[in-house]
Amino acid sequence: MSKKLNIVIWNEFRHEKIDPVVTALYPNGIHAFIKDFLKEDENLNVTLAALDDPDQGITDELLEQTDVLFWWGHMAHGEVDDVLVEKIRQRVYAGKMGLIVLHSGHHSKVFKSVVGATGNLSWGRDQKEVIWNLMPAHPIAAGIPDHFTLESEELYAEPFYIPQPDALVFGGWYEDGFIFRSGCCFLRGAGKIFYLQPGHEYCKAYYNPYIQRIIKNAIQWAKPADFGYEIPNGAPQILTKVTDEFNN
Ligand code: ZN
Repeated sequence: MSKKLNIVIWNEFRHEKIDPVVTALYPNGIHAFIKDFLKEDENLNVTLAALDDPDQGITDELLEQTDVLFWWGHMAHGEVDDVLVEKIRQRVYAGKMGLIVLHSGHHSKVFKSVVGATGNLSWGRDQKEVIWNLMPAHPIAAGIPDHFTLESEELYAEPFYIPQPDALVFGGWYEDGFIFRSGCCFLRGAGKIFYLQPGHEYCKAYYNPYIQRIIKNAIQWAKPADFGYEIPNGAPQILTKVTDEFNN
């Protein structure tokens, strides 16, 4: 029997409390909405966390048990504790936790620190977006057609100031003619990070079955690999002395 995956969905959880339009779409928060569509998977143990919770939602004990962390933030990136950000970065780099950054999380301290980027981009009015599947063979694209349409999503436009993704799984095209790298994989240290662009608080991306499938696939892709050993982090064991090779 395989161990359940511990998933933490961290949400800033501010817009949903102060804007009736957002509250109507996500009454218990975007994080709770995501948890709800993950519930059919009995192998996931999902915990919700929010910025205004004690310890900003993530205690050391919780972080130590987390296999995959989701991050949605927008209006309060600056309030997130730098010490927490560094703990998250270290856990991802050690290969102990995957990270899935959603939508406006591109400007979060967590994304910028873990990926190593400003995360800057251009944005504009909500409009139709076509998501193109650029890597049908990638595990995150499993079950996703060659393209699908979001009737309304916030425009995010290139250039997106990120390092070249290790895999670019989805591309977005907008009716105003802009394009965006909408689904990007990054490998950092021994860990995996997936960035997914759709997910504006005024839009219904998380209601879309293909977005839900992408998120489910991303959990399985980003979860820690079963290394079977501790990732070395210190003085390595010397296998061969170069001088011996030359002397023989
Ligand atoms: Zn947005």
